[in-house]
Amino acid sequence: MTITTPALDPALHPIFEASVRRNPHEPEFQQALHEVLDSIGPVVREHPEYLEAGIVERLVEPERQVMFRVPWVDDAGRVRVNRGYRVQFNSALGPYKGGLRFHPSVDLSIVKFLGFEQIFKNALTAQGIGGAKGGSDVDPHALSAREVERFCQSFMTELYRHLGEHTDVPAGDIGVGAREIGFLFGQYRRITNRHESGMFTGKGVEWGGANVRTQATGYGAVYFAQDMLAVDGRAVEGRTGIVSGSGNVATYVIEKLHQLGGRAITASDSSGYVVDERGIDVELLRQVKEVERRRISEYAERRPGSRFVPGGRVWEVPGQLAFPSATQNELAEADARALVAGGVEAVAEGANMPCAPGAVRVFHEAGVLFGPGKAANAGGVATSALEMSQNAARQRWSFEESEDRLRAIMLGIHQATLEASERYGRPGDYVLGANAAGFVRVADAMLAQGVI
Ligand code: GLU
Repeated sequence: MTITTPALDPALHPIFEASVRRNPHEPEFQQALHEVLDSIGPVVREHPEYLEAGIVERLVEPERQVMFRVPWVDDAGRVRVNRGYRVQFNSALGPYKGGLRFHPSVDLSIVKFLGFEQIFKNALTAQGIGGAKGGSDVDPHALSAREVERFCQSFMTELYRHLGEHTDVPAGDIGVGAREIGFLFGQYRRITNRHESGMFTGKGVEWGGANVRTQATGYGAVYFAQDMLAVDGRAVEGRTGIVSGSGNVATYVIEKLHQLGGRAITASDSSGYVVDERGIDVELLRQVKEVERRRISEYAERRPGSRFVPGGRVWEVPGQLAFPSATQNELAEADARALVAGGVEAVAEGANMPCAPGAVRVFHEAGVLFGPGKAANAGGVATSALEMSQNAARQRWSFEESEDRLRAIMLGIHQATLEASERYGRPGDYVLGANAAGFVRVADAMLAQGVI
């Protein structure tokens, strides 16, 4: 399978140019936009009605963008100010849905790229959810627990007016885990005097959260790899996994790889990576990163036979399966070449847009199966939609039932993605497939709902 990337369709190129002119300092958003427009050329050629209705021009412009001041007082009594964001990109298929990211790198470009991706990812889940993303440039790792609490309360004091179970439903992302979601939900409940379970997902299981939501993104990425491999009779079993990151996604990628008979041998954070040939010990990883909130080197210190590589790039470790699960553009073209040299067969993106465009090209040219994040990591948000369903019905499904539903949804996403890649002329190109299949669902809804 060799896939070449053609230039943008002549009907789409001016839309891309206009967006770049309108958003000149947003490289990540432009990258995400270019990738989608590159894929949907064959779709709009077949459906001129989308162009006539200005679907693409409307789709690339968020329905609403909120930016706000987040003032709070630190433990030393000093006033601090961060910036908060919520980009409500598209609600044609359902209420706005997407996570909040707390990280110093967060700016409008990052939030818009994530929100734009989320539209198509959420469409692929077929769960009736629109696309949004938000966050702040705060660094929760540099804050005490009390400071995080005060920050979250201030953040929600502005954001609450834009949210609601039928309007906009946030969840976690990088830097926003169970602790932050608790504080954010608590402040929303206090301000509105409503225990509105369905206005936030990723909640604690004891107070409205769903079983499997924590595991869903990681498990789903492995399921997607399993489904790609199965097309020509291969399996996860017996294969080695190279995983980046050590947060929620990476942890449960590792767990599911082990459950399916594979062996995940790496994990990383911004300080470097660990290699553990016996297979990463998930409990120890969680203890070090989630419970104690320490650096990844601590894992190697406590686990005999493993080693820490400071500042290294995890992609230099050979393995058959790769799961970039840390952050955007973490895997460059040279890293992709290293993975190919190391015998990689399949790559599934656990993070959002972790592979740079040059890396994706290398995988395609080498015939490596490549599952883009929109499809491969959609299990998290799909399970968020299951959480919303359970909240609306005042039910809680068992772990087993929830996991069965996640499995079925991931199978459906793989099927829809593969079929779209065939239908639009590049069989096995899951990037094209995910973008085209997601786009058609949103475009049809927009077409039916008129120029709004
Ligand atoms: N932040 C996650 C994502 O990138 C989950 C969003 C959600 O559950 O709403 O899809």
